[in-house]
Amino acid sequence: MTENTSSSVGVIRVGDDAYQDLSVRGINKRFTAEPEAFHVVTGTEQVVNAVREAVRDGKRIAVRSGGHGYENMVGDPAVQVVIDLGEMREVSFDPERKAFAVEPGVRMADLYRTLYERWGVVLPAGDSATVGVGGHVAGGGFGSLCRSAGLAADHLLAVEVVVVDASGDVRTVVATRDPADPHHDLWWAHTGGGGGNFGIVTRYWFRSPDATGDDPREALPRPPASVLTGTVLFNRESLSRTALRTLVGNFGRWHENNSAPDSPYTALFSGLVLFGRPREGDPGMGAVAFVHVDATRPDADRLMSDYVSELTAGLGDFPAVLPTEVVPWLEAKKALAQAQDAEIGRQKVKSAFLRRGYSDDQIDTLYDYLDSTDHSNDSSLVSLQSYGGRVNAVAGDATASAQRDSVIQAFFMNTWQDEKLDETNVDWMRRLFRDLYAKTGGVPVPGEENDGCYINFPDTDMADPEWNTSGVSWEELYYKGNIARLREIKAKWDPRNVFRHTLSIRSEG
Ligand SMILES: Cc1cc2nc3c(=O)[nH]c(=O)nc-3n(C[C@H](O)[C@H](O)[C@H](O)COP(=O)(O)OP(=O)(O)OC[C@H]3O[C@@H](n4cnc5c(N)ncnc54)[C@H](O)[C@@H]3O)c2cc1C
Repeated sequence: MTENTSSSVGVIRVGDDAYQDLSVRGINKRFTAEPEAFHVVTGTEQVVNAVREAVRDGKRIAVRSGGHGYENMVGDPAVQVVIDLGEMREVSFDPERKAFAVEPGVRMADLYRTLYERWGVVLPAGDSATVGVGGHVAGGGFGSLCRSAGLAADHLLAVEVVVVDASGDVRTVVATRDPADPHHDLWWAHTGGGGGNFGIVTRYWFRSPDATGDDPREALPRPPASVLTGTVLFNRESLSRTALRTLVGNFGRWHENNSAPDSPYTALFSGLVLFGRPREGDPGMGAVAFVHVDATRPDADRLMSDYVSELTAGLGDFPAVLPTEVVPWLEAKKALAQAQDAEIGRQKVKSAFLRRGYSDDQIDTLYDYLDSTDHSNDSSLVSLQSYGGRVNAVAGDATASAQRDSVIQAFFMNTWQDEKLDETNVDWMRRLFRDLYAKTGGVPVPGEENDGCYINFPDTDMADPEWNTSGVSWEELYYKGNIARLREIKAKWDPRNVFRHTLSIRSEG
């Protein structure tokens, strides 16, 4: 199909039928996008035209691909033009680059299915079905295969970006992993520097750094053909303060001991989801642990049972260990996505990288908040997920994803529906996080125990001195020592700061 490059095609303005649907497309219902126009683009030339027009007219731009950003990067009332790449959804193999070319509007479920069914390979990345590649890869991208195969960004070979220079000229640049490439720094910025900072990504190319030859089936890792899945349920009434200390302590210790890049347990990925007490009625589940092990390994059953027995040690017989199942790979990934994508509504999220498991004091704080009834959210959770493994085989400055010796990624989220309850629920989440990290100024300051936050789970409180009293800037929490280079790249590639949002990189600290 020939791309129609006319700038008026796909331009949706206030009053047009599709405007309202485009307004509410973002995942976090706290934020509605209400620009003068959405440019629903289908190719790079249309992106160039849309940016050129906006720059010429002095309009503030925001970029959207999958619409799964948790903070207000796109719905900010200051935004006048939203360039929406959600319809750019092609996945192909580019024989010249010997790499998979993936457009930013591709959703994760489609990416997994196409790569696997056509070529038998996978991009190790997030577990949601509906997240867009556009924002996800630029922020690093982690999921159930990352302990065995690294982050999505670790497999990024090249990126096509629409950029604006100091005089306002708009052009398309391809930046690659090749250190001799004059645009290499722009590639590096897209391996964890976060979306919406440097320009608009119109295509990613993926090929593993150690891939050889021309065969697409060798260009990216192969996922295990089947997955051994396990589930352990912890009912709320038995999950006392002491039991929570034991459970979260076990999870932390196990990850401290089994997350080296060469551990056999890189074949195992687990999540421990701790649920908040519902406001009323049914007490709900206290916690669920899910486990995925590469079922093609001869020792898969042993890895699973050793893990489950360490996780449940000291808890007596109340944890309900469900029978394990062997599930084909795509089906197993789908089941993870269903759990992740189920929460819909108004949300507040936070994140932390853990180098060590939580202390008893911290677990008590989690208990107090998760057991409390002084909130009005429909649901709240703290999800601790396996990290490390091959993610930690890469140096902290080799990509922009700086956290390379953590063992757990912690994700905090609450969800509610009524706008009038925004303040109480955001406040509940803020207090939880502040008290959890009371020792380090209310935030996970990089050090022996913590390693900052994850930019794909952005949280504007990290830039607010009321909630971050650590003296460590939000940029250092997300990017650690890589922030200096990211600032230089920002100054070079977006000197007019055209691409900016509430947590974007500034060229000056
Ligand atoms: C239900 C759910 C599950 C998730 N699960 C995981 C997970 O398992 N692992 C994980 O790592 N993350 C996960 N995430 C986080 C996800 O990776 C980020 O929210 C990601 O930024 C979403 O990208 P998007 O394109 O869908 O979102 P958008 O809202 O479209 O974009 C997010 C940010 O990226 C920018 N951006 C988008 N497209 C482009 C582009 N083409 N060029 C430049 N900048 C762009 C936007 O301006 C914005 O700042 C999850 C999020 C949700 C909502």
